[in-house]
Amino acid sequence: MDRGDLVPDEVILGIVGEALARPEYARGAILDGVVRTVPQAEGLQRVLKQMGGGRKLDAVLAFDIDNDEIVRRLSARTVCGNCQTPYTGREPGGRCEKCGGTLMRRRDDEPAAIRNRLTVYETQTAPVFEWYKRNGARVVTVDAIGTVDDVTRRALAALGR
Ligand SMILES: [Zn+2]
Repeated sequence: MDRGDLVPDEVILGIVGEALARPEYARGAILDGVVRTVPQAEGLQRVLKQMGGGRKLDAVLAFDIDNDEIVRRLSARTVCGNCQTPYTGREPGGRCEKCGGTLMRRRDDEPAAIRNRLTVYETQTAPVFEWYKRNGARVVTVDAIGTVDDVTRRALAALGR
């Protein structure tokens, strides 16, 4: 993860399967950051089928954003080296508001790791959307430039909520 590579598929599917089996997700869940590869998409389909009870994927949300904006956003993220509190828009070397610790850039947010993450996305994650379309899933693309509220509103509208 520190290099910007993905966690192995079987680890991800094990975590997701256990989480989805919990009672609080009996009525549904939103998976964020999963699925990231075609084998994970195939695996999630198997997991849902094994769970039974008509569990199925309702929609796939694709947040559309250009690479320059991704680099800008990730570069603006820091984390307290002591208590791990995350910050946005605060420089490395600053002080944590909670404990006074030093703010650091996450290792997977370093420029070289970001470039690797973008390459990993193009080669492993982008094909997931085509896979879902071929398999009859509802793939909804949302313009992700703007504030969290703007993007949330667009996502809900696109899902018809
Ligand atoms: Zn702290």
